[in-house]
Amino acid sequence: MNTDMKRYNGSCHCGNVKFSFEHEEIKSGLRCNCSICIRKGALMTSFVIPPEDLTITLKEENSLGLYEFDSKIAHYYFCKKCGIYTFNQTSRFIDQYRVNLGCVDGIDSLVLEAEVFDGKAL
Ligand SMILES: [Zn+2]
Repeated sequence: MNTDMKRYNGSCHCGNVKFSFEHEEIKSGLRCNCSICIRKGALMTSFVIPPEDLTITLKEENSLGLYEFDSKIAHYYFCKKCGIYTFNQTSRFIDQYRVNLGCVDGIDSLVLEAEVFDGKAL
């Protein structure tokens, strides 16, 4: 294991949806101005996580809601109980995840530097 890697744990508000991944220390995030991201307003990971590297744990089966639109390439997941948007699978990097940094333990998503992706232009 690369020693610079940290284990990050996250969850929705009620704890029905939990997730975990490894990455170097997170110092910045990504915002996007596309029609859905601008409404959610979440700061997401600037990197994507391959499906095999994101561990998703559901307290109850069917805890995870899925929202899709248009091409349905991107998948937006949320907890069906508390409504919190936990992660998505992107349209730019098919099947790869970005997670909502506001859900990650030990991260203050309000103070991280944020890159803005011009998703509106796509
Ligand atoms: Zn929840």
